Amino acid sequence: MISKENYNMKIRFWGTRGSIPTPGRYVLKYGGNTPCVEVRCGETFLIFDAGSGLRELGGALLQELGTEPKKFNIFISHTHWDHIQGFPFFSMAYLPTTEIDFYGGSSVIDLEKLIYGQMEREYFPVTLSELASKINFKSLQESPFFLNGIKIEYTHLIHPSLSLGFRITYNDKIFVYATDNELSPDPDLKKVYEKSYGMLIENADVLVADCQYTSDEYKTKAGWGHSTMESVVEMASKHGVKNLFAFHHDPLHTDDEIDIMIENSRTKAVKGLSIFGAKEKSSIYL
Ligand SMILES: [Zn+2]
Ligand SMILES: [Zn+2]
Repeated sequence: MISKENYNMKIRFWGTRGSIPTPGRYVLKYGGNTPCVEVRCGETFLIFDAGSGLRELGGALLQELGTEPKKFNIFISHTHWDHIQGFPFFSMAYLPTTEIDFYGGSSVIDLEKLIYGQMEREYFPVTLSELASKINFKSLQESPFFLNGIKIEYTHLIHPSLSLGFRITYNDKIFVYATDNELSPDPDLKKVYEKSYGMLIENADVLVADCQYTSDEYKTKAGWGHSTMESVVEMASKHGVKNLFAFHHDPLHTDDEIDIMIENSRTKAVKGLSIFGAKEKSSIYL
């Protein structure tokens, strides 16, 4: 990781909590907003997931950019609530100077329906017609593809609904976003993901990964679509990952408990792999 002045990629966490927004004084260090990660590659804005953290990202962008015309590329891993619920509160979506491209794995119509469905009158007071921005839905068709010189690859993860992991390469720096993924110990599933997940994370400078459970917790939560810290550290160690950021923190985990998970996992990592807990409002420069 390099200095603030001379970076290729800037990554900022706006929401790191899994499943449901979790306010409280026990989560002040790692944060309580659901998934949203901003990645800037030069002038291009990439946003991974539209959880409740997107609301605060919108506020920060409004302050920084005002009504200057801007385009935001929002990649949706999947449409479980915790990954889309921030969109109705994204202030930039209310400006006519904003253009938003949504990228998702289901068909264009499905993604559009699922994102907007949460803004129907029964659920939300502001209707779709009040969004002044220009919004486009793009169905992901081929991997890799290129956007303003950024290479984007994606793969299917293991989760109760379709869930995608993304690999971003820009100026030889590699960022991987792989949340809502179950690295199951089941030998048949393991055979599948060892290859696909292994390729996704290979030599990543930064891997943001679902590390929701401890091994003990996993015993009663197998099949829920989330991984143990240990299983991710094993894969990251095997595949030359440099920095792992544990993500999708369990709503029941306090800051102290996450600290202990991180400390314990460091004893199992290979040399060259650094492990951190993803903290809301913290930045990484690559
Ligand atoms: Zn989730
Ligand atoms: Zn999910």
